[in-house]
Amino acid sequence: MSGAFIVDAHLHTGEHGPFFAPESGGRRLRSLMDRLAIERAILAGSWAALTRGGEAALADMRREHEESGGRIRYLGVFDPREAMESLRLLEKAKGWPGFQGIKLHPSFHRTPAEDPSYERAWSFAADNGLTILAHSWSPSEYNPVQALSLPSRYEGHVRRHPEVRFVMAHCGGRGSGRAEALRMAGTHPRVFLDLAGDIFCFHLLETLRNAVPEDRILFGSDYPWLDPRANISRVLLADVPDSWKRKVLRDNAIRAFALEERLS
Ligand SMILES: [Zn+2]
Repeated sequence: MSGAFIVDAHLHTGEHGPFFAPESGGRRLRSLMDRLAIERAILAGSWAALTRGGEAALADMRREHEESGGRIRYLGVFDPREAMESLRLLEKAKGWPGFQGIKLHPSFHRTPAEDPSYERAWSFAADNGLTILAHSWSPSEYNPVQALSLPSRYEGHVRRHPEVRFVMAHCGGRGSGRAEALRMAGTHPRVFLDLAGDIFCFHLLETLRNAVPEDRILFGSDYPWLDPRANISRVLLADVPDSWKRKVLRDNAIRAFALEERLS
């Protein structure tokens, strides 16, 4: 295969507060995509959309989409503490070009993932054929708010809305979080896992390949906090069949985000 073909299923734009990110703008991202053969990317919330929300942040993501010629798609952020306002913005964005779904981040929004206040987001995704991408991680002594985003906390929503395509970011993190994420992907046919973030575990790709159905793992970078080349290399150099590498780098993300079906 030649030319740009990779889909990065999880990255961000904008100034990134506490995280060191020497480049963060859409223009830098687009030139990086060109260099690394990344055809399309899912903008999983700009830093402004994740931390402050609001209409301007959403409109900025739409602008990133338009300036990219449609290569950057974006997710609206649902903050359960501002549920009505979040829903109003999602309703507005659902017909916009490049809008692909909803991002949830229980740790940033200080609300556990199983909380009933998220039900509106899940219903909205179900009613509108949207994908949900949610932060997930394992228990962390140095970052205790990660406990709000443990994979198992999402399972009630998944059971109530089995039709929703649900991507758990970071494969549930490390250790017990990852084990739970793998169990859920093996149990629920529309649960996907992305590779974004610093889950640099030994033989991760080989382990994932053997643990879940072959259509569930998505390449993601968490750019600009991490360099996409790290995770692209891990996929390309893994001891797994080339046919599966192609699914991870491209095909699974197209399915998980219905990239061919939704209007560009
Ligand atoms: Zn992220």
